[in-house]
Amino acid sequence: MIICVPMEDIHFTLGTLPTQSNVLRTQVRNFLVEYLSDYPSVKRAQSWSGSDRAFSKLMGANGFIGMTWPKKYGGGERSALERYVMLEEMLAAGAPVAAHWIADRQSGPLLLNFGTEVQRQRFLPPITRGESYFCIGMSEPNSGSDLASIRTHGKHTKKGWRINGSKIWTSKANISTYMIALIRTRPQDPKNRHEGLSQFLIDMKTPGITIRPIQNMAGEKMFNEIFFDDVIVPDNMLVGTEGGGWGQVTTELAFERSGPERYLSSIQLIYELINELSENPTERSAIGIGRLIAHLGTLRQMSLSIASMLEAGESPNLAAALVKEVGGGFEQEIPSLAYELTGRVPLLADGNDFDQVMAYITQVSRSFSLRGGTREIMRGIIARGLGLR
Ligand SMILES: Cc1cc2nc3c(=O)[nH]c(=O)nc-3n(C[C@H](O)[C@H](O)[C@H](O)COP(=O)(O)OP(=O)(O)OC[C@H]3O[C@@H](n4cnc5c(N)ncnc54)[C@H](O)[C@@H]3O)c2cc1C
Repeated sequence: MIICVPMEDIHFTLGTLPTQSNVLRTQVRNFLVEYLSDYPSVKRAQSWSGSDRAFSKLMGANGFIGMTWPKKYGGGERSALERYVMLEEMLAAGAPVAAHWIADRQSGPLLLNFGTEVQRQRFLPPITRGESYFCIGMSEPNSGSDLASIRTHGKHTKKGWRINGSKIWTSKANISTYMIALIRTRPQDPKNRHEGLSQFLIDMKTPGITIRPIQNMAGEKMFNEIFFDDVIVPDNMLVGTEGGGWGQVTTELAFERSGPERYLSSIQLIYELINELSENPTERSAIGIGRLIAHLGTLRQMSLSIASMLEAGESPNLAAALVKEVGGGFEQEIPSLAYELTGRVPLLADGNDFDQVMAYITQVSRSFSLRGGTREIMRGIIARGLGLR
């Protein structure tokens, strides 16, 4: 018998929402009724991949971006749990939040943790106004899961850092104002592959940057290839410590992997399925929907628990990997269940809202166990955390 000793404590604290969040929830719902009531179902299905600059600005004007950040940078100084309430309402409605999503979720908190005061004052207020959008430049051709093997490199010169190389799969780079890029600034040390990586803020309009959109299966140009040819990045755009980028990147992961977006991306298909089945309800359909909702409720509780831990200053990376893995699996099962319960196959062009949403989610949900870290990598992290490898 093998006795496994857990390497990292994996726990979920039951998170409860503060009472003031009910007021906020009503406020967000009213906002959504005012600005999104005639938004088409198939657009709502894009969830946090759908972008609309005007909508981002409206969110900013209503205090829904940078909600937890200090007021001096344009933030709202509200709790992570209040932000959670706003997020789940936006996602449940399929609001087009993608333009500012990365900046709000990841880049802003990164700058608050590691940025200089000048960087915070310069970059955070436009994010909170919904005017400045960020993308994450980590993955490269042949360096996705094995991120430490990236080859895009920066050489220090009198003018700043000269960057050469390429990134791939960079979501929303084509509409982003800045990228936060992970760049190799020192040659790789085979004994410590994670050393020598640095994070830079890169203005996407800098000469030498080429952005080439990649079309996904659903026909969207959501992610991109980026090429850097002698791109000069000023010294003051280095984020945190030169060579210490790896440690900084890993602090972003709990934010990236545990939010309600990890189980609400396909919610529109659940609504459409319920609509479809309600025309001729059966016991079988009730059981199927009941299971879905029970699963959804459990995932929500797990994700909410991580929001509480983040609020308490913890870094629950292992629990976050679990939410991402279980959430992604749950979402990928929804189209199959929809087929089992209705007998309808996804239709690409025609059909009603249910058909179109089902076709869209069937295609894009394949990527849910790739983006933000693949299924095998998540399972590896969980197994290591449990002391199984
Ligand atoms: C919709 C979408 C949006 C994305 N947006 C961004 C973005 O904005 N910014 C960004 O930087 N990246 C982004 N990515 C890239 C994403 O992070 C990578 O696709 C992912 O990390 C996997 O890397 P890869 O594609 O190189 O596959 P690989 O790492 O080559 O993996 C290929 C297969 O091998 C498996 N595998 C690899 N290593 C191991 C291992 N050690 N053990 C077991 N199995 C293994 C993987 O699980 C996978 O199944 C996005 C991807 C998608 C699909």
